[in-house]
Amino acid sequence: MSTALDPAIAQALAQSDSSAVPFRMRTNHVQTTWAKTFSWMPELYIQPESLEEIEHLVNLARKCRRRVTTVGCGHSPSAITCTSSWLVNLDNYNKILASDHTTGIVTMQSGIRLYQLSAELEKLGLAMPNLGSINHQSIAGAISTGTHGSSLQHGLLSEDILSLRITLADGTTKKCSRGENTELFRASLISLGALGIITEITFKAVPAYTLKWKQIIDKDVKMFNRWSGDLWTHAHYVRVWWYPYTRRAVVWSASETNEAVQDPKTSWYDGSLGYYIYHNLLYVAQYIPRILPWVEWFVFGSQYGFADGTTTGAVQSSAKALLMNCLYSQFVNEWAIPLSKGPEALRRLSSWLNHLTPEDPDYVPHNIPFSAEGLYVHAPVEVRVSDTSNPELDSVKSNTRPYLDITSHDEPTLYLNATLYRPYHADPPCRQRYYEAFEWLMRDLGGKPHWAKNFEADGMQIERMYGSSLQQWRKVREEADPDGMFVGPWHRRFVLGLSPRLPFEEVELSQRPKWSGGLRYLGITPSQIKGPNDA
Ligand SMILES: Cc1cc2nc3c(=O)[nH]c(=O)nc-3n(C[C@H](O)[C@H](O)[C@H](O)COP(=O)(O)OP(=O)(O)OC[C@H]3O[C@@H](n4cnc5c(N)ncnc54)[C@H](O)[C@@H]3O)c2cc1C
Repeated sequence: MSTALDPAIAQALAQSDSSAVPFRMRTNHVQTTWAKTFSWMPELYIQPESLEEIEHLVNLARKCRRRVTTVGCGHSPSAITCTSSWLVNLDNYNKILASDHTTGIVTMQSGIRLYQLSAELEKLGLAMPNLGSINHQSIAGAISTGTHGSSLQHGLLSEDILSLRITLADGTTKKCSRGENTELFRASLISLGALGIITEITFKAVPAYTLKWKQIIDKDVKMFNRWSGDLWTHAHYVRVWWYPYTRRAVVWSASETNEAVQDPKTSWYDGSLGYYIYHNLLYVAQYIPRILPWVEWFVFGSQYGFADGTTTGAVQSSAKALLMNCLYSQFVNEWAIPLSKGPEALRRLSSWLNHLTPEDPDYVPHNIPFSAEGLYVHAPVEVRVSDTSNPELDSVKSNTRPYLDITSHDEPTLYLNATLYRPYHADPPCRQRYYEAFEWLMRDLGGKPHWAKNFEADGMQIERMYGSSLQQWRKVREEADPDGMFVGPWHRRFVLGLSPRLPFEEVELSQRPKWSGGLRYLGITPSQIKGPNDA
């Protein structure tokens, strides 16, 4: 595809009555996901710096009949942000607009990254009430896919959002909140980028806090035995990493403290030595997968301790303590299931992966209709929780749940994340069979996939999972964007159903493997199709 500016765009620009408003675009930009799972070259890459510029670019896109995709920092490893049309990034639209340290209410431009927001909050003596494993995401990107942390005292990260503004396909910006344009608010809280460009977010922070955390590695059966006791409630934040072959688990927990900050002790394995040892062992396992159980024992023993019961800990600010080093390129397939199904899910997965027989004390019938013969996978399975079932929660009381909320409504939610690393950007050979079986099991337990991640569940399955909520989301989406300016093949495949193709909707032409790993995406919008007489 040509990278010169399409004459139709040049003409629309020249004729624009807002010619005083900058249109900060460039061609020849190559975008990748953080995990390098996809790369693509949009027709234009646009980085606006004001609301006026955002509205202007949407008006231009409408004139040129182009699809518009907003990308945060590309941390979603799926093709959700791939486009060959216009790609908008709000990294330069990231200021705090208003703040009140007594109420904790902060209004910000939506391109702000979570680490920038945390730094700004710290200056005000405030903090985010909850965080996921990283803080690189833009706030708009994080909420748009339903990002969560791990605590039964919290729901999704979006639960603390009081209102937002979103620029719609007609170029106007609308405010929505619990009390104003409520349906737009519920649809925008998990928008999948398909409603418009979220431009401003008002959010309630909490007073800054310090966390005392500890992590214990032990036999997984101890974790299972504690599951319906105090495993998830003994601290404010709790997360678990489960190791299928060694049948061990790390339980990480953290609660508020007034103690002085004390960073964790470092071992020989921390830092770049451990990083490269693990990376290279995973690379060897690409060719000799049967070493993976040993790799699991060696790497996580070195990291957390070989002896059961080994404990480490520290005292850190919340913005540091809640984060973790996610290492390198990876596929992540994460599902939400009811919390009570957790032990069954992990035990069935263990029986399947470890080929357990009834003589084994950990055996349960797995009923997974795929063979695990000769299959070896990476560890860990990340095990996290949230709770949006509490009737005291504001979002439950006011029924402002996102329509596409993946959490359980009747009980707390468990997230199981099957991570597969991509050593030196190579796809692991177990991926297809492991994920096929994992997704089958998750569906069998009433699960829903995390919107940002690498799932294969099809549109019909998604439709059954969401029922009328998906219909409501589609209705709001259609009103906000009747021509499909904000949708492409990812949305068609998973959430748009069988409705007729929309006038601006992008379709996929190809996804081709690159020599350096990952897939190169190519798509087209109807207005980009050239006739024989076009320049
Ligand atoms: C290493 C790593 C760790 C992670 N940890 C967690 C975790 O702990 N918990 C969890 O739940 N998830 C986690 N994720 C997933 C991550 O939070 C999501 O993928 C999130 O959406 C990424 O934000 P982003 O800013 O990169 O958005 P992108 O991935 O760039 O975009 C995501 C979606 O948001 C839309 N979007 C972005 N900006 C806007 C905007 N201004 N207006 C409208 N739509 C917009 C995009 O169009 C797209 O649909 C992790 C991902 C990685 C790579």
